[in-house]
Parts: sequence; structure tokens; C-alpha cells
Amino acid sequence: MSNRAVIDQLASWLEPLGFSCEIQELPDNKANLIATLGSGSGGLVLSGHTDTVPCNPERWDQDPFTLRDSNNRFYGLGATDMKGFFPVALAAIENLGEQLQKLKQPLIILATADEESSMSGARALAEAGKPKARYAVIGEPTGMRPIRMHKGITMASVRIQGLAGHSSNPALGHNALETMHEVLGELLAFRGELQKQHQHTGFEVQVPTLNPGYIHGGDNPNRICGHCEMHFDLRPLPGMHIDELHKQLADRLLPIGHRCNTPITLTRLIGDIEPFEEPATSALVQIAEKLTGNPSESAAFATEAPFLQALGMQTIVMGPGSINQAHQPNEYIEHSEIQPAIDAIQALILRCCNE
Ligand SMILES: [Zn+2]
Repeated sequence: MSNRAVIDQLASWLEPLGFSCEIQELPDNKANLIATLGSGSGGLVLSGHTDTVPCNPERWDQDPFTLRDSNNRFYGLGATDMKGFFPVALAAIENLGEQLQKLKQPLIILATADEESSMSGARALAEAGKPKARYAVIGEPTGMRPIRMHKGITMASVRIQGLAGHSSNPALGHNALETMHEVLGELLAFRGELQKQHQHTGFEVQVPTLNPGYIHGGDNPNRICGHCEMHFDLRPLPGMHIDELHKQLADRLLPIGHRCNTPITLTRLIGDIEPFEEPATSALVQIAEKLTGNPSESAAFATEAPFLQALGMQTIVMGPGSINQAHQPNEYIEHSEIQPAIDAIQALILRCCNE
């Protein structure tokens, strides 16, 4: 579904406040919004994604597409993850009153497409080399705790082409399942080595992970297995590089295929997300820690942060609401989380845009 209505709505709210709105068109009638107030080489990007995950309306107690105010909560799809961040940012901006036009550095509201799926919006921005500012804050739900790192994610398939034949004579074929046995052994050995080489105490799971999550092969006990396929994910720590990991995987797995006469094809299954880490010493991390009184930490989920950081901005993830509410039926944001978030974002704008 197109996100264009959300982009246009945000632009219609931001333009009267003096923002100049650039809409970056993407395939499939998707779009990013870059709304900029002021100019200069520093400043702050407040970023959010405009999409949500799909939902199952039958599992909701209400229409997921209508915001409902009840029990001191706002219920609705995206209330927390993360359409709710935009009105918080807008309220912070409106509260600035006359101070808004006097900011010394640019304030940019960034609204992206497809974060929950391909991250095509963030990828297009990284390719276009914009927006640029000194600081970027992505308002994903973190309970206003500054997140300065998360693991990356990549997924791949291993396809082994064997040769089927009657099982009574192994010489009649090449068994793809037997090759997969070796491949799995090599993958787990690779995982063990990675976990020995890389640890990070800032994460709940302190090592990179590799999970074989899908396998299919063969069709009959009395036929030599002609084809076997397995999928795994790999979640690297900051400091590891996904392209390099895939090169190492190819160097280790492809020779097994040659040796067994069962060619192996490795395919990446998703657009990769690189691991992300903003140093604890970076000015933005320290500003956010001081403003919120919360120490920075890591997240177990991946975000658009590595794409914004790659544009040269100090980047953190910090927004109202709990990630436990994300991707759930009856998603809500507590009223009590809203005003503190508005106050913090307002203070952040004044701090970052007045340097
Ligand atoms: Zn989100």
C-alpha cells in the first residue's frame, strides 16, 4: 500500500510552520519526506517511518485504523511503532513558538517508507546522500532511553544441487543431503569461531548469532537426494561487516560443493542491515543521556540508524512508547509517555539547533 497519504499529511502540517518539504519519490508509489527548517552545516534530523507492519483486524478489540482514546491510552495501529512519534515531534516544534524561527541550525523532519520490510526508504536516502545534519534521532519506541547500538542482520539460502538416482547404488547419483550434513557442520564451526572472536558486553546476547531456520531436501528414502536447501540468519555485532562475512561463507562452503560434485549456490534473502554503534563518547549520546536521565543502551531490534549514520550524522534511536507494544494487536501508547517525550524532544531541538 502506498504511504503517500501519510507523507502528504505530514507535509501539510509542516509547511505552515515554515518547513520546506521535499518529497523523494520511490517505486510503487512510495515516498520519503524531507522537511527542512533553516539552513547550516549542523542541526538535527528527527526521523520516523510512516509504515506499520500488517495487522490482523480480527485479533483487535477495535478498528486498528481508527485512533481510540481509552484507559489513558491511545489505541491504534502504529500508535507506538511509530506514527505516534510524529505528533510528539510536531507538538515539540509548535511549543517552541518564536524560538522556532530563531534556531541557528537546521531542523529536519524525516519520514521514511518501508522500514518494516525492505528499508527501501532509508536505502534511497543513503544513495541520494541526504539529509545531512550533525545529529539524527530516530523516534522508534524505546521508552525515551537512548539506544546507541544494535546488531545487523543478513539472511541467506544455501542450495545444493545433487543428482538423484536409485538408492541401491550410491554410484548412480550425488547425495545433496549428505553434502548438507557437511555444510551444516561447517556453518556451525564458523559460528563458533565468530563467537570466539567477537563479543560485546553491551548486548544481552553478547556474541554474533547464526540460526539455521529452514531446511528442505529430497523426497523419498529410496532415492538419492537430488536437491537440498537451507536458510539461516546471521546477526553480526558492531565492527563486523556483512559483505566480508558472506565472502568468508563462500570461501568455506563452495569448496564442499565442488568436492562432493554437488554445486552449491549461496543467495542473500533480504536487503542487509549493517550493525550499528554510535560511540558512548559522541556528543549526541551524551546530550540525550543528560536530557532524559537515562543511560544509553543497546536494542535487540534493527533500525534505519546505520543508514543515517552512514550519511555522516551522529545517530541514536530514542522515542516514546514501549517496543513490547510494537507489532501487537491492540497496540497503544500511554498518555503519560507523551508529555515527557514532547519536553525531551523540545529540549533536544533547542540544544542541537542552537550550536
Ligand atoms: Zn518501528
